Amino acid sequence: MHLGRGLGYTTIHPLFVKILIKKIREAGGELFITDVLLPHQKDFGGITAKDRYSEDILDAPIYPVAGVFDKYYYSKKVGFKSLKEIQVAGHIHDAEVLINFSHFKGHGMSSFGGAIKNIAMGCVTAKTRQDLHFLHSTGSGIAWDEDLCNRCNKCVEECRYKANKFNDNGKYEVSIHDCTYCQHCVEICPSNALSLEAKNYLDFQEGLAIATEEVLKTFMPDRVLYINVLMNITLMCDCWGMSTQSLIPDIGILASDDIVAIEKASLDLIKPDIILPNSLPKGKVLVEGKHLFEKVWGKNPYEQINCVARKGLGNTSYKIEEIN
Ligand code: SF4
Ligand code: SF4
Repeated sequence: MHLGRGLGYTTIHPLFVKILIKKIREAGGELFITDVLLPHQKDFGGITAKDRYSEDILDAPIYPVAGVFDKYYYSKKVGFKSLKEIQVAGHIHDAEVLINFSHFKGHGMSSFGGAIKNIAMGCVTAKTRQDLHFLHSTGSGIAWDEDLCNRCNKCVEECRYKANKFNDNGKYEVSIHDCTYCQHCVEICPSNALSLEAKNYLDFQEGLAIATEEVLKTFMPDRVLYINVLMNITLMCDCWGMSTQSLIPDIGILASDDIVAIEKASLDLIKPDIILPNSLPKGKVLVEGKHLFEKVWGKNPYEQINCVARKGLGNTSYKIEEIN
């Protein structure tokens, strides 16, 4: 699960997690919940994911996916541009079964986040997540336009990795060692003074597919189940630590043993004309595009699915059966 951060409350409702836990136990399974939970990550107001999904409420353990210090992983060599290695998180590697319980929502770098992003970003170390984000830029990172900047400092306050600062000469600096290229500073800047240099959004999608493939290789094919929760479908990812309005009415919950089919079906259910009035944050406008997420983020969301499908990890054709 992506447990989300800070004050974000539109992640998967704990009630659904609890129901799933109950069903797994009734079927004789033993379980743990896992996500990237780094001790140094700053969450808003001291509220963390564990306040939403406490072990007391869920009656199930929650483990940091690659250990407390993010050093428990298995290295898988790959070769795609600057991406040389996928560090598959140890607790994922050791598990016999994966239930990928994903909140389906928008995402600034990949257009949407669902089952693929849950695995590619949530089942690896922070280092691999950083490497994946890095694919999105050519290496020079975040560009700062001094003339547009009003020195409000919001970008520095927003960065939970302490990767950016204004130096003694008043110039904006980003540490490439600490920056995850999450773009939160870019999005929060009220003056459009920050931008990600030379966006390579398709490389990022390919990186997500490579990471997904390496994680899935550690499971027998019939030992992975995908559940996408199409409720509280927000513009931004849960890693923002806040909640925006739902873009569209709730749709429901999809389940499948095919990662490509479930992502395709989830996207297909989100039609542009079902956007709720006044659901876009102030200043956000829709751009050209066929899919709603393309209109929101300017990126074709189906590219992510195509990358995973080309690796033979699933099928784009599907049939939806409704279950009460
Ligand atoms: S958020 Fe934007 S305007 Fe404010 S200090 Fe940072 S770069 Fe400058
Ligand atoms: S991209 Fe993210 S990690 Fe990098 S400086 Fe901006 S907020 Fe910090």
